Amino acid sequence: MIKVLVVEDDAQLVRALRINLEARKFGVETTAEGNTATRLAVMRRPDVVLLDLGLPDMDGIDVIREVRKTSSVPILVLSARHTSEEKIRALDAGADDYVTKPFSMDELLARLRAAVRRREAPAPSEEPALIETADFTVDLVAKKVRRSDRTVRLTPTEWHILEILITNPGRLISQTKLLLDVWGPTYSEHTNYLRVYMAQLRRKLEADPSHPRYLITEPGMGYRFEG
Ligand code: CA
Repeated sequence: MIKVLVVEDDAQLVRALRINLEARKFGVETTAEGNTATRLAVMRRPDVVLLDLGLPDMDGIDVIREVRKTSSVPILVLSARHTSEEKIRALDAGADDYVTKPFSMDELLARLRAAVRRREAPAPSEEPALIETADFTVDLVAKKVRRSDRTVRLTPTEWHILEILITNPGRLISQTKLLLDVWGPTYSEHTNYLRVYMAQLRRKLEADPSHPRYLITEPGMGYRFEG
């Protein structure tokens, strides 16, 4: 049974989540407090945490930081905050994904399953060396990309960005993280670099670069590889 820890102070939403999750055979534990949440995340070993950012006793971002000191459990943020800055802070603190309120239960369940699946995915050393899509193939060991039987030439920076995205399929990678990993801490404001390089990657890999199917932009937040 997949155990879900729901951290949310909106009693009505908690009730709806419990009904929907239990109906799909998830194990559900709930708390309205950040302090209790950080304790339960360690003691009960949930498979995934659903976390509201606006809690009465504690900022949800601090809950993420606390949990991350001891646990790599997937954290899915339920955010009523519409600024992308808040969401980026949550992702950079170690959240895995976010769902903006109000959300549909179907969307939430899909994100939840994706978060759990990623956790169950094999460790990096066992990852397949080849990632294939309908349009191109990426060989992670040889660091080569092929498209329609031709090698696609990527610059080292393009490769670095692509590698981060494709080894985290379906996962939103924040602009801050990409800039930090690829260019280093002094470039964290240079989101225009990312736009330029993503456009180049799309031109090289996407059948229709203006309507990308694989390299998806989450406006103001980051990028996602959909395999
Ligand atoms: Ca709240």
